[in-house]
Amino acid sequence: MAVPKSKITSARRGMRRSHDALRAVSVNECPNCGETKRPHHICASCGFYDGREVIEAEGSL
Ligand SMILES: [Zn+2]
Repeated sequence: MAVPKSKITSARRGMRRSHDALRAVSVNECPNCGETKRPHHICASCGFYDGREVIEAEGSL
């Protein structure tokens, strides 16, 4: 089994973990229906992306 050669100090451990924090998911407003949607994603409520309906929206079947 691989064994660490020396102790990772709390400072080095902190440097490694400086990128580990989770970030809040960003949301934009859908230009078609005004619902919140994630950037670069199809709107979940109206199915629009880039000004046209890409998928059938939920509940409008
Ligand atoms: Zn929408």
